[in-house]
Amino acid sequence: MMENKEEKYREILSPEQYSVLREKATERAFSGQYYNHFEPGCYRCAACGNLLFASEKKFASPCGWPSFNEAVPGSVRFIPDNSHGMVRTEVVCSACGSHLGHVFPDMMSQSGQRYCINSLALSFSNACRRSL
Ligand code: FE
Repeated sequence: MMENKEEKYREILSPEQYSVLREKATERAFSGQYYNHFEPGCYRCAACGNLLFASEKKFASPCGWPSFNEAVPGSVRFIPDNSHGMVRTEVVCSACGSHLGHVFPDMMSQSGQRYCINSLALSFSNACRRSL
């Protein structure tokens, strides 16, 4: 079953999206299509379409990745991540488990937390209903 699921992701995702979402890679800072993107709308999981972030919660951060104050309630899960010699909190899609990015304490964020999310993990849409 798991193999079929991964095969499906291989088909629907680009190799770059797959490496982020399914293999926890991180896109290079300032390389993604959404770090400097501020149109009104919603950001969905690129793997499963789950509604993750509203543009109202996005803010301009100098970090080079799309940054949000908060996620749509219930849309993400948090996993302790001690890889690469760092103590971080990984953010994954609550619907499909795909890797999205990390959440950090950040004074620039209204919530005090910055959701640092890979552009490659997101799909922007003007339609913000929970199901398309
Ligand atoms: Fe998902």
